[in-house]
Amino acid sequence: MAGIRLEQVVKSFGAFSAVKGVDFTVDDGSFFVILGPSGCGKTTTLRMIAGLELPTSGRILLDGEDVTALPASARDIAFVFQLFALYPHMNVRQNIGFPLRCQNLPRGEIRRSVDEAAKLLRIDHLLDRRVGGLSGGDRQRVALGRAIVRRPKAFLMDEPLGALDAEFRRLMCSELRELHDRIEATSIYITHDQLEAMAMADRIAVMNQGRVEQIGTPQEIYDRPRTMFVADFIGAPPMSFLRLHTSLRRGDRLVMIDGAPVEMPELFEDRAEGKFALGVRPENVSFADGSQLRGQVIGAEYLGTTQIVTVTTASGQVKARLPSGNPVQVGETVGLKLRSDRLSLFDAASGDALS
Ligand code: ATP
Repeated sequence: MAGIRLEQVVKSFGAFSAVKGVDFTVDDGSFFVILGPSGCGKTTTLRMIAGLELPTSGRILLDGEDVTALPASARDIAFVFQLFALYPHMNVRQNIGFPLRCQNLPRGEIRRSVDEAAKLLRIDHLLDRRVGGLSGGDRQRVALGRAIVRRPKAFLMDEPLGALDAEFRRLMCSELRELHDRIEATSIYITHDQLEAMAMADRIAVMNQGRVEQIGTPQEIYDRPRTMFVADFIGAPPMSFLRLHTSLRRGDRLVMIDGAPVEMPELFEDRAEGKFALGVRPENVSFADGSQLRGQVIGAEYLGTTQIVTVTTASGQVKARLPSGNPVQVGETVGLKLRSDRLSLFDAASGDALS
């Protein structure tokens, strides 16, 4: 297996830059997810790692070796597209063994490798079956078997579960992650689905408009978003922002919002007067009668054990995740308490978090 490293990778198509200087390192054996909205450059980045697209500039290293100019066939990387594309006229053994037959390996070796892959995927009892009669889940496992049978240095997966319905997706996500843990193959997985990314990744790179906005563990990205884009893209519902126009001083622990003092994380720099945004996740908002920060309830979404209540204040809308037992009246005025150690403060002009 191998670590993967991108250094200042740029890809332009004519005058348009799809990838604008991307840097990241994927540790050997880890599961790395590139997350971002449609068109942010995920596929282009993955295609460059696979060797299907040549970077305009920058370097790609596989296991410490510069592979930037190597063709895909010389990289020993498996690129998994949609998992269900199988050869219907072949049985399971033939489907899984296909990549090895293409390499003209000896029959005995192919048999052993296929047996091993099928065992890892717990489909060894299906090896003689035709793929046509298999359940959806087993077909996905066969397709995975075909990807792992070559024992490549790394796996690249481009929304492999994209075409599946939500429930089946969740099942295959956890199977994929389990399989990864068993074979410990370096994997890069791309998705626009933040829940999928959070559930599967060791580390996530959040991309936006050709750049990486943040790299971190799912928890780091959720708890300490470095930009407003990340804060808004991650979480369901995402972070709420209260807008303020003020100056800030190093050591400040209070900001005034709608004339109410709100405690925030300690500030480590002075900031001239300007626009800022105080970000808060719904689970860190509660109702408190005595609070001077007040707003009006404009809606509540029932989610079983919890409800998401939307409150509008003079500085913006805030969503609160509350137990669904709490009776909430649309139109009522409520006091809001924000958990001070869980707030993020952003420069509203640049979108960057303040340290
Ligand atoms: P999606 O999830 O929709 O596939 P993505 O994040 O994977 O999006 P890319 O497919 O990498 O995004 O595309 C990034 C941008 O580069 C898009 O605006 C796309 O139109 C553009 N692009 C990709 N390939 C080419 C190409 N061969 N020629 C011109 N533009 C391209």
